[in-house]
Amino acid sequence: MDFRIGQGFDVHALRAGLPMRLCGVSVESPVGFVAHSDGDVAIHALCDALLGALALGDIGHHFPDTDPQWKGVDSRRLLAAVVRMVRDAGWRVGNVDVTIALQAPKIGPYVPQMRAELASVLEVEPDRVSVKATTTEKLGFTGRGEGCAVWAMALVQR
Ligand code: MG
Repeated sequence: MDFRIGQGFDVHALRAGLPMRLCGVSVESPVGFVAHSDGDVAIHALCDALLGALALGDIGHHFPDTDPQWKGVDSRRLLAAVVRMVRDAGWRVGNVDVTIALQAPKIGPYVPQMRAELASVLEVEPDRVSVKATTTEKLGFTGRGEGCAVWAMALVQR
């Protein structure tokens, strides 16, 4: 069996009154993401991890934020398109691991739903999808509540 591994990273700024979507799930929050798309920073990092595993470029290359067709787009559509690219290249998703750095709100209660949501778009079992959350102990831009950072890793196999 052949394996490839990729990593992705994304950051979005937070602003009062905007919706917060993470891993395809709406999170109840007084602040949400400033973005051209729906701002799902977790899915964006995950897309880059999958693209990175196969050296297929990055999300900005495939879905430029200057293109009006991606304005307000549900990021699950972007992830589904990336999964198709993976499959078209002859690979399948092995597992993914996502780490969300966010000071507030608490993400823990949403994690089971997030794993299920990502698994359905990735077309894998939820036990191949890990979603983890951490604060940064009030340090840095995430700790001050100015933004959210997400790291993702993905393994593909054939
Ligand atoms: Mg992004």
